[in-house]
Amino acid sequence: MAKKQYAVIGLGRFGSSVAQALSKLGFEVLAIDSNEHLVQEVSGIVTHAVTADSTDDDAMRALGIRNFDVVVVAIGQDIQASILTTLILKDLGVPYIIVKAQNELHGKVLSKIGADKIVFPERDMGLRVAHHLISPNILDFIELSDDYSIAELLATEGMIGKNLKQLDIRAKFGCNVMAIKDANGERMNISPKAEDTITPNDVLVIVGKNSDLAQLELHYSEGR
Ligand code: ATP
Repeated sequence: MAKKQYAVIGLGRFGSSVAQALSKLGFEVLAIDSNEHLVQEVSGIVTHAVTADSTDDDAMRALGIRNFDVVVVAIGQDIQASILTTLILKDLGVPYIIVKAQNELHGKVLSKIGADKIVFPERDMGLRVAHHLISPNILDFIELSDDYSIAELLATEGMIGKNLKQLDIRAKFGCNVMAIKDANGERMNISPKAEDTITPNDVLVIVGKNSDLAQLELHYSEGR
């Protein structure tokens, strides 16, 4: 199967880091920005880098943007340009469009005009940091929907040596342990069983309702 081809429009901190990461992973990336200086900065890293205004549909057509499997729109502050760009990409038939939204309202508009995925990097990172601050054992927190999330919980001292049946997270908090991995990410148990025992540096990947996860976080932040 041919490797997917990506285009990234907007080379601010977010867009350029997406473009660089994809390039490092070996994918073809077209990077676009209206600011020539930023285009030059990434030109040695990505496959192609061009200076263009993404709100100019002729320019987008000329770049063959519809031939890319995924286009990431990483224009933040100029909401009008972000929306117009998304509309143009949609009209040109780009199969999958991911757009960075500045706020909830921006996200709603993007969803109405057919963006396939909307990301809120600042909001999501803020949420993760807050959860980590409230409970340092929470290493990561990913929202799946308004009501459900995944939390990565570093095993507390009290958990070590106990198995999942003894911890009884499902009955106590209504959450499910989806996986157990070690903190370095080298070992991953993706179908943990009741008799699997927690060892030091294990990280429990737990899915649940936000309200249930909040109870669980509170419980384990108190080191019980
Ligand atoms: P960051 O990712 O750094 O937080 P941001 O959310 O503040 O970025 P902006 O700096 O507003 O986003 O936009 C990101 C980039 O998008 C800028 O480099 C800007 O030049 C580029 N950009 C804005 N409008 C257009 C456009 N119409 N066509 C191409 N690039 C554009």
